Amino acid sequence: MSGSTGPVWVFAEQNEGSILPVSFELIGQAKKLADELGTSLEVVFLGDAVRDQVQVLFAAGADRVYLGEDPGLKYYQPEMYTEIIVKLAKEHHPEIFLLGSTACGKELAPLVAARLETGLTAHCIDLTLDEEKQLEQIIPAYGGLISIVCPEKRPQMATVAKGVFPKPDTTEHREGELVLLEISDLKQQRIQLIKVVHEEERGVPLESAATVVAGGAGAQGPEGWAKIAGLADELGAALGSTRPPVDEGWVELDRMIGQSGKMIAPELYIGVGVSGELQHMVGIAGAKLMVAVNSEPKAPIFEQVDVGIVDDLQEFLPVLIKKIKEYKTEVA
Ligand SMILES: Cc1cc2nc3c(=O)[nH]c(=O)nc-3n(C[C@H](O)[C@H](O)[C@H](O)COP(=O)(O)OP(=O)(O)OC[C@H]3O[C@@H](n4cnc5c(N)ncnc54)[C@H](O)[C@@H]3O)c2cc1C
Repeated sequence: MSGSTGPVWVFAEQNEGSILPVSFELIGQAKKLADELGTSLEVVFLGDAVRDQVQVLFAAGADRVYLGEDPGLKYYQPEMYTEIIVKLAKEHHPEIFLLGSTACGKELAPLVAARLETGLTAHCIDLTLDEEKQLEQIIPAYGGLISIVCPEKRPQMATVAKGVFPKPDTTEHREGELVLLEISDLKQQRIQLIKVVHEEERGVPLESAATVVAGGAGAQGPEGWAKIAGLADELGAALGSTRPPVDEGWVELDRMIGQSGKMIAPELYIGVGVSGELQHMVGIAGAKLMVAVNSEPKAPIFEQVDVGIVDDLQEFLPVLIKKIKEYKTEVA
């Protein structure tokens, strides 16, 4: 299948044996790129006792799966994962290598790129090929979208957030080639896993919520933020955020929406004290109805939403929350 062009690679990330949705989304897009390049789509898959998942990767579009299985690979470990992938890439010369923009992918991708002395574009929101069949890696920057290519070095590497590409259709009995990797010297790593702590999901999960209330820097402090969180609570909505509230410590990083946060597609998005910068707005491109509350009539978000409310959130939110409470009592 593969001609003179090297294969397109995807790193399939697993968490305790389950492959993450973003890996399938990347396989779907990678398959399109591989077809256009006339080459094969290959998946690198590391874990422990995960061989039963390989067929799912073939069904999603992988022509070949490199499988590394070992108890030491059950959890992501930067040194081991980097070592294995770099060795493999030096042997097989992938043309393109895609990873999810997850906590693991965000660390692993630069580690691998540095060792392979190639470039890396982080947090892409689209991937296509230009007329010279180079990978066009599209990211929001400088108030618009820019396209980055890596003309000289290979592989062309990119990370992509969950939800950017759709999950591919699967062909249940599709066949592919399984290549088992020899895993050795894992015990000599400097980083040792001591304990795994499962973090509990707080509040309504952002990705699956029908309604999301996202707060921005306009909250101006914990008190304002509590009002935004109060609106989310009252509506049974998930609480989201732009970057500044995360930087300020008003909310956890896993609530950030956008280019370097989460991509969401709720029925209703309400942005409160959010200016409408592209890096945030790309994360809500799939929202059905968008509402913004902002005290500045010229805020760019008003050009991007369906309903705009010009008001100071400190005054507007207590009134809105009171009205919602009254409505709930009326209809109860
Ligand atoms: C590489 C890169 C990646 C990034 N990734 C992300 C990302 O994933 N997600 C993200 O969100 N950002 C991201 N950013 C940051 C992004 O560029 C913006 O800085 C950020 O989205 C702005 O957040 P904001 O709208 O909350 O703040 P601001 O732009 O400061 O806007 C605050 C708004 O609040 C309004 N306001 C002020 N007071 C009140 C009030 N009392 N009542 C009502 N409204 C009020 C103001 O009029 C203003 O419009 C990224 C930046 C870079 C460079």
